[in-house]
Amino acid sequence: MCEKPDLRSLSLEKLKTEIVQMGEKSFHAGQIYEWLHKKQAQSIDEMTNLSVSLREKLKNSYELYNLTAVNVLEDLEDGTFKYLFKTIDDNVIESVFMTYEHGHSVCISSQVGCRMGCSFCASTIGGRVRDLTSGEMLEQVYMMQRLQDKRVSNVVVMGSGEPFDNYDNFVSFYEMLTDKNGLNISGRNITVSTCGIIDKIRDLADRKYALTLAISLHAPNDELRRRIMPSANKYSIEGILSACDYFFNETGRRITFEYSLMAGVNDTAECANELGSLLKGRNCHVNLIPVNPVKERDYRKSRDTDIARFKKILEKNKLNVTIRRGLGKNIDAACGQLRRSYMENGGDMGAGLREN
Ligand code: SAH
Repeated sequence: MCEKPDLRSLSLEKLKTEIVQMGEKSFHAGQIYEWLHKKQAQSIDEMTNLSVSLREKLKNSYELYNLTAVNVLEDLEDGTFKYLFKTIDDNVIESVFMTYEHGHSVCISSQVGCRMGCSFCASTIGGRVRDLTSGEMLEQVYMMQRLQDKRVSNVVVMGSGEPFDNYDNFVSFYEMLTDKNGLNISGRNITVSTCGIIDKIRDLADRKYALTLAISLHAPNDELRRRIMPSANKYSIEGILSACDYFFNETGRRITFEYSLMAGVNDTAECANELGSLLKGRNCHVNLIPVNPVKERDYRKSRDTDIARFKKILEKNKLNVTIRRGLGKNIDAACGQLRRSYMENGGDMGAGLREN
């Protein structure tokens, strides 16, 4: 990690304090914030309305944790782009740009790697390398907006990493992303996905963040959940659901439950019935995700008939269910798969992939 902190991670308030401590007038904080979050400057030297001496002071104490696009894959069928970005300390992270009817959406990573250990997920294979700063999370959004030359309307924090294992940075990312002095994206257009870290769900509720909370459930009972998600040893489904109820009561935002279907593991009619009774009567949404097989893991996709049966049983329980649209299926879009192929090939993506 770099020795100097990331300037892009400072809130306007923190910037003001810093600037005053540097012996400068606090209004410069607003200028710097605008350079970073509106004009999306890539260097302190670009901030030409600041005096040279202030720019030097900033450079002595801070750095910009910029990202460099090292690769991009495009799914020609659906226009999804998957980016591989390099951080200033030479780690690689994945981010995805998707186009829907209602606008453009990006999926970003919150950590380099992940330590949650979900058995079907590629992001966790090498463990967690480090947390991303809030500036690096923002920069993924800014970068894709610039590279695509399109305005991003929705942001989902569903890439590599567990956002609630990097909670303070996630909170400051959310605050800056929704800030009117930045991209000013509405909380309603932001989704965060967690494996279910209860105290953080409750903290989000206390903050009254009106975002969409997605819970990676993947099993209808703790016993099965523990087999596929180590975090289930610490957080029970009952505890997670009660934190979700609290979040719904405080924010009025309907929860999404994600359920990755794995053949013969969690896709039986029995599992569907159990999940149906567990969630029945809740104002929620269930998103079924046919598992994206990862070569290091032994899971297979459920058969279409089993997926359809699973959905039907949930619908009988009056639940709102969708099957995730398989965006980017031609380009290794499952969490962490692209990063792993990049690392295994020593940074060489091989033939057929477009270098950026
Ligand atoms: N750590 C967070 C967010 C990252 S993963 C979380 O656990 O929610 C985003 C979603 O993709 C999660 O629901 C995750 O369980 C799921 N996922 C990860 N790998 C997958 C795979 N190979 N196939 C299908 N879904 C997967």
